[in-house]
Amino acid sequence: MKSNTILHYPLMVVGTVAIDSVETPFGKKDSVFGGSASYFSYAASFFTPVELIAVVGEDFPKEYRKILEERPIGLDHLATVSGKTFHWKGKYGSDLNTAQTLDTQLNVLLEFKPKLKADREPEYLFLANIDPELQMDVLNQVKRPKCKFVVCDTMNFWIEGKRPQLEKVLSRVDMIVINDGEARLLAKEANLIKAARKIQAMGPSTAIIKKGEHGAFLFHGEQFFALPAYPLEEVFDPTGAGDSFAGGVMGYLAKTGDLSFENLKRAVAYGGVVASFTVENFGLERLRTIKDGAIENRLADFRKLCHF
Ligand code: AMP
Repeated sequence: MKSNTILHYPLMVVGTVAIDSVETPFGKKDSVFGGSASYFSYAASFFTPVELIAVVGEDFPKEYRKILEERPIGLDHLATVSGKTFHWKGKYGSDLNTAQTLDTQLNVLLEFKPKLKADREPEYLFLANIDPELQMDVLNQVKRPKCKFVVCDTMNFWIEGKRPQLEKVLSRVDMIVINDGEARLLAKEANLIKAARKIQAMGPSTAIIKKGEHGAFLFHGEQFFALPAYPLEEVFDPTGAGDSFAGGVMGYLAKTGDLSFENLKRAVAYGGVVASFTVENFGLERLRTIKDGAIENRLADFRKLCHF
């Protein structure tokens, strides 16, 4: 499906479109196409058309934009402004679950004021990892209750730097998708179950806590579900796993339109499967080579592994 033939995008994401520098035990690469919204939208696009809200600078390579154009991703709100694209530099040691941030250059994000076209009415909104003030700007522009499910992500950079703004966002979302370290930091609580309960009390009635290679916890009101990660022998670059996971979850929810606990569990499984592809190569490279049926095949393997 080409984006110029799509009339409606049920899912919208605001987040970063980035130029990353990444170092893992298996290699080092500068100028990798990354960003929370890039990974999210590419992953979600396997399930539903998705509209991307982001900003890049004049240095943003045309080839990267073409990568997004491969998929049903709406780019009307991918603004190009003068200045440099958001840049993140990170490193993974032998523990591939935790990225060490070496440098964050916000660049064009500092002046970004997202303005949604009036005719855009998404049913699902994902506030990907980005400045909570920008998350709030977009949230204020979507129409509730037409937009029936708003979900957010965040990271230590924003939890430590903009907690009050983040708490305002949290008070207005339906679900949060966050990793284990960030959940502990946000809740100021080491135990993940207690941390999730504290985070739910801040606003979102549903919380997904990602635990890297150890899978994910889903908390839905009082209900609780746990799933391992799809086990891989070779993990090449974990960057983007969290955003692709969220893309798989939200893409599947938007495709099925079912927000029941049972369907949320299935969405978590799809999220894990999509993320397992992302980490097999740098950047979006592995997602770009996914063949028809590969997600369903891996999901079937995953189901056999977890069922007893
Ligand atoms: P993850 O899925 O958690 O591995 O996210 C990886 C992506 O997050 C990278 O491609 C980065 O460009 C992006 N990123 C890193 N730091 C930030 C930040 N402070 N705000 C928004 N996006 C970020």
